[in-house]
Amino acid sequence: MTTALIWHEKLMWFDAGTFAGPMPVGGWVQPGESSENPETKRRIKNLLDATGMTAHMKVITPARASDTDILRVHSPDYLAKVKTMSGAYGGQLGVSAFIGPGGYELALLSAGATIAGVDAVLTGAADNAYVLSRPPGHHAEPSGGMGFCVFANIAIAARHAQVDRGVERIAVVDWDVHHGNGTQACFYDDPSVLAISLHENGNFPRGGSGAVEQTGAGAGRGATINLPLPPGSGTAAYRAAFERVVLPALSRFRPDLIFVACGLDAGNNDPLGRMMLGPEDFRWMTRAVLDAARRLCGGRIVFAHEGGYSAPTAPFLALPIFEELTGRPSGIENIMAARMAGLPPSVLFPHQEAVVEAARTAAGLGSDRH
Ligand SMILES: [Zn+2]
Repeated sequence: MTTALIWHEKLMWFDAGTFAGPMPVGGWVQPGESSENPETKRRIKNLLDATGMTAHMKVITPARASDTDILRVHSPDYLAKVKTMSGAYGGQLGVSAFIGPGGYELALLSAGATIAGVDAVLTGAADNAYVLSRPPGHHAEPSGGMGFCVFANIAIAARHAQVDRGVERIAVVDWDVHHGNGTQACFYDDPSVLAISLHENGNFPRGGSGAVEQTGAGAGRGATINLPLPPGSGTAAYRAAFERVVLPALSRFRPDLIFVACGLDAGNNDPLGRMMLGPEDFRWMTRAVLDAARRLCGGRIVFAHEGGYSAPTAPFLALPIFEELTGRPSGIENIMAARMAGLPPSVLFPHQEAVVEAARTAAGLGSDRH
């Protein structure tokens, strides 16, 4: 297997501003470094380098996306706002979305990195691709940034695949712990893109974003699937979600290309999530989507990095993903997997199963399993 790793040092130079968790900085709230800082991504790259895994991948240096690429998804007013703020002193693009000076060019590079991942896979230069970029994209909506995201990287790369490369049907599996509201908004009435989001119920964005009942509109009805899992969900809940909803939905949709919005923030220990996944869960989910891609679309799959904010543990959640993508073991002990092996076995609780079954029914996949 040839895996493309899309990486550019300048992506790590994006300034995401100051941050204080769920509270706005100001007044009595002391500013701190943004959770979306380069450290988690750098440590992933460092572990890939240190274990020798990078040497077995095809490292691709991306180019910036063009304004034409961006305008397939975002409004001209929003693009102008990003350019203006970036050209001045930076500013706030939306809830928890900041941009520093020069951030426009770096956000273009992050979108361009995702496009490069698509091109690597569609031209046959690689069998699959991992886009290790920032700023992330899945919260960015057509007319505004949100949640550390400036441009909707996956949506932009999906439109590139459709318009420039003739791909028709695209599926997005978003396992970031937060709702993929941006991806959902970009394709809500579009039957050509299946947007599936597994996320922690009520985490971010607030206000009911990513409820089971949000299934698409107009011609796109049924092409949006939401699995708002309860806080505390782990192996059993995610496996049930995949086996009963995600994988049957992919089989029914028959995509020509699959994206994974690969957040690592459903990992145990993440400061911005309350889920319980460990390295072996990310391995299992990666195998599941790779198998689906092989079965449905000639293996064409692009992983695009989203969240994941525990700097020490993120590399050990990412490692099994890369082992599965490349088909090559790293040869090191996964110390986080060893730590989590001591936890009590994960069981599927009734309140978790109820969400999975509700999503299954809302997706029209039946509810005959009890
Ligand atoms: Zn996230």
